[in-house]
Amino acid sequence: MKHLKNFSQYKHLLITENVDEENELETQKGKSEYVGKKHKITIVDDIKNFIFAGNSIFTIESSQTGVWYTYKMKRADQKDENCKTFFVAVLRGPDNVNSYTYLGTVFDGNKFTLTKKSRFKDDSTCTKAFKFFFNNIVQNFIDHRLNFYHMGICGRCGRALTVPESITRGIGPRCALIMSGKIQKRTSSKYSQLSIKYPRYGNRQDDGDTDDI
Ligand SMILES: [Zn+2]
Repeated sequence: MKHLKNFSQYKHLLITENVDEENELETQKGKSEYVGKKHKITIVDDIKNFIFAGNSIFTIESSQTGVWYTYKMKRADQKDENCKTFFVAVLRGPDNVNSYTYLGTVFDGNKFTLTKKSRFKDDSTCTKAFKFFFNNIVQNFIDHRLNFYHMGICGRCGRALTVPESITRGIGPRCALIMSGKIQKRTSSKYSQLSIKYPRYGNRQDDGDTDDI
């Protein structure tokens, strides 16, 4: 972790208005006070949920040195919520939306490896940092020296988060419902993103996940 880039070097890059990530959902363009700022997640389950949401962007920072890396983890098959293959890229350039370089692939939701197309080696610091972090997470653990942040962008759909309640876990209200199985993907457009009060169907009781609503 000693050689990670200094956070301040990239700080100015973390401001964006357009977070369109070619996802199939419409992108909510425009300003959000949360986008471009770091939002810490400390609960391991929430971190795990976030990075496997499908379109997650997150920063890992060493609390000892202050150095950090930003990664993007994208589900290989965007149409299959159960797909457990994810492509991992690392932010390496001046544009925090487009300057990601392919790092490696997560298979079966728990094995990260470099592949032929990887642009980095096993001993690259960004590889070592990701492996260290990822191996922690798959063991339901996070080293106390690591800080984990999302960037105000929904980990599932890539849209700007606009509701304060979504910031805790980095998942927007609608995506939180989809991920918890309370609503189906691609339900009628009458489920507008921010107007959901409770799931419309089923007798399912509140399982405590409604703080995202
Ligand atoms: Zn979302």
